[in-house]
Amino acid sequence: MSTQQHFETVIVGAGQAGLAAGYHLKKQGRQFLILDANERVGDSWRNRWDSLRLFTPAKYDGLPGMRFPAPRWSFPTKDEMGDYLEAYATRFGLPVRTGVRVDRISREGDRYVVEAGEHRFEADNVIVASGAHRAPKIPAFASELDPRIVQLHSSEYRNLGQLPQDRVLVVGLGNSGAEIAFELSSTHAVTLAGKEAGEIPVRHGSVPARFTLPIVRFIGHRVLTMRTPIGRKVGPTFASHATPLIRVKTKDLTAAGVERVARVAGVRDGLPLLEDGRVLDVANVVWCTGFRHDLSWIDLPVFGEDGQPLHDRGVARSMPGLYFMGLLFQYAATSDVLPGVGRDAEHIAKHLARFGATTRRTEPGDAHGLTPRELEVVRLVADGKSNREIAAALAISENTVARHVQNVLGKLHVPSRTAAAAFAFQHDLV
Ligand SMILES: Cc1cc2nc3c(=O)[nH]c(=O)nc-3n(C[C@H](O)[C@H](O)[C@H](O)COP(=O)(O)OP(=O)(O)OC[C@H]3O[C@@H](n4cnc5c(N)ncnc54)[C@H](O)[C@@H]3O)c2cc1C
Repeated sequence: MSTQQHFETVIVGAGQAGLAAGYHLKKQGRQFLILDANERVGDSWRNRWDSLRLFTPAKYDGLPGMRFPAPRWSFPTKDEMGDYLEAYATRFGLPVRTGVRVDRISREGDRYVVEAGEHRFEADNVIVASGAHRAPKIPAFASELDPRIVQLHSSEYRNLGQLPQDRVLVVGLGNSGAEIAFELSSTHAVTLAGKEAGEIPVRHGSVPARFTLPIVRFIGHRVLTMRTPIGRKVGPTFASHATPLIRVKTKDLTAAGVERVARVAGVRDGLPLLEDGRVLDVANVVWCTGFRHDLSWIDLPVFGEDGQPLHDRGVARSMPGLYFMGLLFQYAATSDVLPGVGRDAEHIAKHLARFGATTRRTEPGDAHGLTPRELEVVRLVADGKSNREIAAALAISENTVARHVQNVLGKLHVPSRTAAAAFAFQHDLV
């Protein structure tokens, strides 16, 4: 191991979830570090397909403390979102170290150990904000497809140019599947397998949508939460299902000539086999089958039988100081998206301040037994201030200042004000 450092809190992931958590820790004046595998903050958005625009309007895309710099009802591009996150980290001076992929989190004694290649970080608290939409979920039978078929997951799809001109099978009719199938239909023959999970009933971006979206957000943010009976009932299933179609709807797909077929059930003779028994002769398959949450690099007993972390609103059960951000339905249906991440971050930061492994910020004077007030006094003494000046600066009486000075001399084991000033400089108290 080439380096080892200790931090009060390490945040893994500098996406919107990690940065929002960092914002609140910074506001509390806490000591922390954010680690991210990408080269630049915002790359998780930049690396999505070229034509992607956000589904949420700019009005809901800002993180705590900084609105998204675009007209409220416009839909930012994925690069604008990436740049916004980068500007956010800069504006609030968030300590992000990029190009660092964490490969293990474990526990040694009363500390967490965060390992990233040859780097080793120790921390009293860890916030895992590594993203719920990262590890591709592809059916195992995909490996049985004829090797001549070009296969991509939606997370690898960038543009039309990646796929040979022959027929494309897009698997999965969530928003990614609908948008990618629609885009491909301008140059390719497209077959789309799967069934939609409903549609938002108004045209995306239209004036009626401006009235509908706040209602959708209200339901996702305030009604479907762990606090409400309906939220607790539908939350877990809601999180694992595709969301209703938002921008590209089934009638757009039909108008664009996209062929709709049943779900893909397996492979026969190297070709995709549908649930209704049809076999499709295609040259390309784009898997728009979603993501799984891969937390296998966390070497801690914090997971349930389903492999998901056991937590209450992002606070790990039975692992003090371990937190999660950006989980599906962490607290509400909006937890893994921009409109909900700020609220979860604030909750986690408040919990960490009250119950985290280090519940009190350490001040430089602590090591010498100085109270915060005595530290202020010693700093003013070192600054050459008289008792009268110190009394005025701290709005206390000169007698009280004299008492504090006597205490300071005793605690620092020095004979005079001059010696106390010298001690303060030598021991980084000023
Ligand atoms: C195609 C698509 C479109 C979406 N559109 C919208 C939308 O319009 N509006 C909306 O609100 N939401 C949208 N979402 C959902 C969600 O907002 C995004 O997925 C968002 O990127 C999640 O942010 P995050 O911070 O939780 O995770 P991510 O953005 O994935 O960030 C996680 C970060 O953690 C880092 N990381 C992961 N593992 C490690 C590790 N082991 N070590 C170090 N670093 C690590 C990654 O490099 C990454 O930077 C969309 C999702 C997808 C897939």
